[in-house]
Amino acid sequence: MNRYSRQILFPFIGKEGQEKLGSSSAVIIGCGALGTIIATSLVRAGVGRVRIIDRDFIEEHNLQRQVLFDEDDIKNELPKAIAAERHLKKVNSTIEIEGIVADINYKNIERFVDRADVILDGLDNFETRFLINDVSLKHNIPWVYGGAVSSYGMTMTIVPHETPCFRCIMADPTGRKLVETCDTAGVISAAPFVIGSLQTVEAIKLLVGAREEINRSLRSIDVWKGTFDAIEVESRKDCPACNGRYEYLAGKFVERTTVLCGQNAVQVSNPKVGKLSFEELAAHLKNVEDISYNEFMLHFCVNSQEVIVFPDGRAIIKNTSDASLARALYAKYIGA
Ligand SMILES: [Zn+2]
Repeated sequence: MNRYSRQILFPFIGKEGQEKLGSSSAVIIGCGALGTIIATSLVRAGVGRVRIIDRDFIEEHNLQRQVLFDEDDIKNELPKAIAAERHLKKVNSTIEIEGIVADINYKNIERFVDRADVILDGLDNFETRFLINDVSLKHNIPWVYGGAVSSYGMTMTIVPHETPCFRCIMADPTGRKLVETCDTAGVISAAPFVIGSLQTVEAIKLLVGAREEINRSLRSIDVWKGTFDAIEVESRKDCPACNGRYEYLAGKFVERTTVLCGQNAVQVSNPKVGKLSFEELAAHLKNVEDISYNEFMLHFCVNSQEVIVFPDGRAIIKNTSDASLARALYAKYIGA
């Protein structure tokens, strides 16, 4: 317990709270900037079992804000989940740490969050957040939403059937507007650091049983402006998830990915997208090359991939036959 002595001195945790942390289990979904802050904090705080799930490899431009990774991880071509596990096992060998390389979807999420006491959102896309929301409500596992881009971010704690849920407060998934991501709007590290830290505190409150202390509003911060706001939110009577209709978990809005045989290309279609505005999409696409569009299609390049987008939200990603890479590019650049 010497390891945690300073945290035990904090009266809202104490020896009893520390023991509760030690017998708790947290699942972190997504291990980018938010996920690395959350993972390092929970591991250091002594949460007994920490599971980290991520689908990506580490790239040089991640090092600016993803605090668990270093240049050797890139040389060794390590997936984020594995690099996180290796680094964190050196920080705290007394707890269970498990890194899982996987693309979370409606078929596998229930298995991954099995026996979790809390789920933490380290994601960069909305689709999977709605999925976490469904699984949280269905299995009665609280989760902490967090998102950060540019210099701002938001976080909210969802306690199933007690607080408003994510679907209560976020726009209907069909016909949603394009969403800014770190790949289009950029990000400075302080935004995810602050949001990830707030998420960690919420998780610790939930795990030590300080439920009355949790954050029941949608918190919004801007680290550049130095502003911190709390937005009161309410449950929606017609919210499908609150009424037990878990549409994301049922795969209703799932992106359909088809590997186009013989063409070295993958098609991603997304039933959530109604009609895309190419003008709006082109304005979002800042880190890509060779953007051009007419009324029929929009075209751009990322690394060695060429992406062609159609007005119905369908996209063809050329020069790959890797469906998960295609989905990841889709989520990053077109939005999910
Ligand atoms: Zn709801």
